[in-house]
Amino acid sequence: MASLLLQNVTKVYKGNVTAVKDFTMDIKDGEFIVFVGPSGCGKSTTLRMIAGLEEITSGDLYIDGEYMNDVEPKDRNLAMVFQNYALYPYLTVYENIAFGLRLRHTPKEEIDKKVHEVSKTLGIENLLQRKPKALSGGQRQRVAAGRAIVRDAKVYLFDEPLSNLDAKLRAAMRVEIIRLHKTLNTTFIYVTHDQVEAMTMGTRIVVMKDGIVQQIDTPTNLYDHPSNKFVAGFIGTPQMNFFNVHAIRKTKHTYATPLGTNKELKLTLDFKDEFADREFDAILGIRSEDIYESDDADALEATVKVVETLGSECLVYLTFDNKDNKLVMDGDNEFVMKVQNRVEYGLDQRIKIKFKTDRVHMFDKTTEESILK
Ligand code: ADP
Repeated sequence: MASLLLQNVTKVYKGNVTAVKDFTMDIKDGEFIVFVGPSGCGKSTTLRMIAGLEEITSGDLYIDGEYMNDVEPKDRNLAMVFQNYALYPYLTVYENIAFGLRLRHTPKEEIDKKVHEVSKTLGIENLLQRKPKALSGGQRQRVAAGRAIVRDAKVYLFDEPLSNLDAKLRAAMRVEIIRLHKTLNTTFIYVTHDQVEAMTMGTRIVVMKDGIVQQIDTPTNLYDHPSNKFVAGFIGTPQMNFFNVHAIRKTKHTYATPLGTNKELKLTLDFKDEFADREFDAILGIRSEDIYESDDADALEATVKVVETLGSECLVYLTFDNKDNKLVMDGDNEFVMKVQNRVEYGLDQRIKIKFKTDRVHMFDKTTEESILK
């Protein structure tokens, strides 16, 4: 069990590539932290700096209050599970799990006890005499995890451990890793590019882009209160819809007028003080489940392009008429509404929709930072 403190941790690779810049975070004992972001955003580099596999260019790393920058990886008391399981093919599952303990000259009885404990936790007791080639991908992944957790480390580090597995197995292993975290009651740091994995597993998530931390928050806060457009678009499927709007905050009220329409939407959310009494161009974000059909006079007219039926719910792809003015950002002028039941529309059918005004997100047009209070 351990806490970690990263202060302005930065990594510059040869050739002046800044992979991670000013990573600052206080990780409490027992947290399940997920680093998430697109490929190349610096997640693995950060994890590897924590593990000691990569030198920290500048900034400080503390584990349990102890300065770690210059401590050898083997002396940090961390265990790491990689994407490539790297099991010894000629050793049995038992020997693979026992390997690290043997290297440390752990007494035989203790090794036996630990291997059985760990394999019980992971549900692989019946596989102990098998060789890796006689295991499925998921079973191999469990053995790899077993090798890591048999060590009683302070912190467990996972670098995309599930990315080689098929979707069904990934979902099953996700649940197992969550369970493992509860059982071990230890600090986990987990790297993934998959936002679903991040949202389902993390107690807190670090969203990264281009080596820079965008937001550190709980899954629900990231979803409900993304601090910028990148986070808003990265977290959640289908992706949040973005519209170019003209916004205004007058006296106590805020409004947004989608470009090219004359519909002023009255919002129930407040803008930050610097946007008081101003008119400005902004980006309005709304999630698909926060758009609904309505016959109200102030509803917006849209045209149905495609309906995707997903069993219990439907995704309805819509366009507004004014194609030329780039009302819908990012993608073919289409946006998507999620409906919690089955709907049938004809192609190009006209419907009227509204946005849940208390679920609207607003971003500065230039900085793309949230302007909501
Ligand atoms: P992620 O894990 O988010 O996919 P990485 O941490 O692997 O990202 O990489 C971050 C950036 O650092 C990328 O631009 C990558 O090309 C670069 N990078 C990673 N490793 C090295 C290295 N050994 N030398 C130079 N650049 C590297």
